[in-house]
Amino acid sequence: MSRSSVTVRAPAKINLHLGVGAPRADGYHPLHTVYQAVGLCDDVTVSRSPGWTLGVTVPDWMDEGALPGPGDNIVDRAARLLADLHGIEPKAEVRIAKSIPVAGGMAGGSADAAAALVALDRLWGVDTTDDDLLRIAAQLGSDVPFALHGGTAAGTGRGEVVEPVQDDQTWWWVLVPSRVGLSTPAVYARFDELNPGASSEPPAPSDLLDAIASGGVHQLAEALHNDLQPATLDLRPELADVIDAGEQAGALRGLVSGSGPTVALLCDGVDDARAVAGALGESHHGVVLVANGPVAGAHVVTYA
Ligand code: ATP
Repeated sequence: MSRSSVTVRAPAKINLHLGVGAPRADGYHPLHTVYQAVGLCDDVTVSRSPGWTLGVTVPDWMDEGALPGPGDNIVDRAARLLADLHGIEPKAEVRIAKSIPVAGGMAGGSADAAAALVALDRLWGVDTTDDDLLRIAAQLGSDVPFALHGGTAAGTGRGEVVEPVQDDQTWWWVLVPSRVGLSTPAVYARFDELNPGASSEPPAPSDLLDAIASGGVHQLAEALHNDLQPATLDLRPELADVIDAGEQAGALRGLVSGSGPTVALLCDGVDDARAVAGALGESHHGVVLVANGPVAGAHVVTYA
């Protein structure tokens, strides 16, 4: 059934494990990653319209100027691919309400793309199969299939091949975004410079998967792993101070989320997370957020 308006919510991700190999012939880096969807979400609302319009609202701590210009949003591309699949014209009024930092290493654009695919599918009443949605998602970006899945999941290939991981805990994170984002390609380029002898086979996440299966937060803290972190810290040395400050304030372990610059600090439960956020809120001149995971992938929150 088609609708007049649909809102879909999609989560940010943290890479609990990000193993990166040497670039493939197609230029992409092979990854072994473990994603976790956390409760920091963008909402995409699509409504019936005679044409195509797209607007984005951001909280005042985000740099609106980092968003792409008209026609270049990943949601524009998502709509075109979905409409082409069904042989229809992409018509909708789209509003993206962002909470996920832009160019923050938390796959905010990917979340918007996943949310838009689900929302437009419902608005247009086109009943896209899960296989087709995942195929289009992978065309749009390496992290988009995971934004559809949510939860905790292993990613291989360039991250687009996603397998759910059983994860029965609720993990608590403090997230420290930066106002100025980082270009993912620039971080990978620095990774290549720093790792000229990288293996074609990226490091596997066995310790991390064992830690999740154990359910122990200390074991998880020890197993967190991000091969991109040295490259990100090389480009943004001040992030090491944010990690140190978070760990001194009581976080079990801090790491850069994906390519950064957002810092994710794993805490021993909700009370510790609030305490760490409170302490950082006083010392750090910027926004500090608390989120838990795993949470659901792109899902409808309002139908009209
Ligand atoms: P990546 O998925 O490459 O790791 P990221 O999580 O660091 O990226 P995103 O917020 O997804 O960061 O933005 C990456 C780039 O995509 C930015 O340069 C931005 O201009 C562009 N972009 C396109 N559409 C969007 C969108 N809806 N929201 C955020 N960024 C977008």
